Amino acid sequence: PETQATNFVRDIIKADIDAGKLKPEEVVTRFPPEPNGYLHVGHAKSICVNFGLAEQFGGQCNLRFDDTNPAKEEQEYVDAIKEDVLWLGFKWGGDVRFASDYFDQFYEWAQHLIRKGLAYVCDLSAEQASEYRGWATKPGKPSPYRERSVEENLDLLERMKNGEFEEGSKVLRAKIDMASPNMNLRDPILYRIRKQSHHHTGDKWCIYPSYDFAHGQEDAIEGVTHSICTLEFADHRPLYDWFLENLPVPSRPHQYEFGRLNLDYTVTSKRKLKRLVDEGHVDGWDDPRMPTIHGMRRRGFTARAIRNFCDGLPVAKSDGVVSIAQFESAVRDDLDKHAPRAMAVLNPLKLVIENFSEGEVENLSAPRHPKEDMGARRLPFTREIVIDADDFSEDTSLSRKKFKRLVLGDYVRLRGAYVIKANRVEHADDGKPSTVFCELVENTVGEDPPEGIKPRGVIHWVSMTEGRKATIRKYDRLFLNSAPDKGEEDFISHINPESKAVLENCWIEPELADAAPESSFQFEREGYFVADRFDHSPENPVFNMTIGLRDNWSN
Ligand code: ATP
Ligand code: MG
Ligand code: MG
Repeated sequence: PETQATNFVRDIIKADIDAGKLKPEEVVTRFPPEPNGYLHVGHAKSICVNFGLAEQFGGQCNLRFDDTNPAKEEQEYVDAIKEDVLWLGFKWGGDVRFASDYFDQFYEWAQHLIRKGLAYVCDLSAEQASEYRGWATKPGKPSPYRERSVEENLDLLERMKNGEFEEGSKVLRAKIDMASPNMNLRDPILYRIRKQSHHHTGDKWCIYPSYDFAHGQEDAIEGVTHSICTLEFADHRPLYDWFLENLPVPSRPHQYEFGRLNLDYTVTSKRKLKRLVDEGHVDGWDDPRMPTIHGMRRRGFTARAIRNFCDGLPVAKSDGVVSIAQFESAVRDDLDKHAPRAMAVLNPLKLVIENFSEGEVENLSAPRHPKEDMGARRLPFTREIVIDADDFSEDTSLSRKKFKRLVLGDYVRLRGAYVIKANRVEHADDGKPSTVFCELVENTVGEDPPEGIKPRGVIHWVSMTEGRKATIRKYDRLFLNSAPDKGEEDFISHINPESKAVLENCWIEPELADAAPESSFQFEREGYFVADRFDHSPENPVFNMTIGLRDNWSN
């Protein structure tokens, strides 16, 4: 973008470079997802910030899976996350990293803290520990196990590691300050017992490090210079620094916190998104209604649009809610420029052009894009065509101003083709028009009709003999409430029951059937659509609606 959004981390890095603390190419950031779900739009922001800064300074950004909790982590998520980062157009430095690769090192550092008298094994139950910890205005009291000897602590930790104790019966804690106003410093947990297999280390470990004991050390091992996370970790920074100051780490990273990206009408919490999937409210993590990167991709949001949107938002020290309309508008702007135009009829009504011969095909052509140079497409015109049922009316009293479409006895222009007139209608049993018999006005392709003939407007159409049948899935916002997970009610109750409609009986221009999966189009007068990543084929064309031509939600 021409005007760069403000980014206080970028300013800090610039200042560090100017002060001679590091060279631009020494900037190392990381994106550290926990592989317990698919990434969402908030993660896209974090990816753009971390990879974007590395790119801008010529440094490197690592992709590191923060896989310290065996219970919720799965290989499926690891694979999906890697795919998302690559799809957004970023490359991580070196190999993918896993926090679990450093488990041996963490264990040694735990022993190191014990030897320095800075960690101890505690036998309090979770409930007791929380009582001892006190609360913000009430200092905690020391655990009765706080003064165990170095030898006893080393022995107990070893036995925890060997699986001698039950889950929940012992933890390793740092010995810091039970009276600190920062609760995170009241002897936080370093290790807990979890007798579970881990997606990466199998059954090697039955004790797992806490986020706090792992994160800064991971950064230090990897030589991360600027460790960027969201605001809720600001209170953890003193602990982050405490570990780095008390351990023989190979480098000294610093943590910076920025405001999360929140969107209205949207839920961005992996736990809640998982519920939508598990309870079947959506068709999977990559359902086009999901705010996951996989979902947005399937919906037809381009990586370029997502990056433009994220890069246009400031990186600030406060949280805020961004309007989904702003995001959708970024998507629209991108597709307007890059998506070829085409015609598709979603709700077909048959027209017979009685003065055009049966069996004849007139190959008209139309530009693929009104402004960009994308060449022309074949637009076959035939005797039988379809238009949208909503583009025809038998009510001859409709004013020309209100209804700029086809009316019985009147003229309309078929986009890129002839001016036609509707002469006669046949009806189905339900009374709705089934076929409209029309005539075309000669010499009106790309030419004005003769004096006295005034088409009401321009409508889209598809040849029934040369065009192809297609399935089109229309999507709308998944939630009707602008803050679905902020109120009293369960967020599930705000789901829009009409967020998905599958139209099986659509017609598309012939060329669209051969579109590559994931290619985007503007279907004229309808909106932007994408050939489905998985279900679309020339034999069975399937398109997903990405977004309408204009915002129908705000007034
Ligand atoms: P969730 O609460 O959705 O589970 P998380 O923060 O637990 O998200 P992680 O996998 O730990 O998910 O996140 C990886 C990185 O992405 C972290 O650095 C985190 O701060 C960042 N991140 C997560 N959500 C957002 C968001 N909404 N906006 C910006 N960054 C985010
Ligand atoms: Mg997290
Ligand atoms: Mg989480």
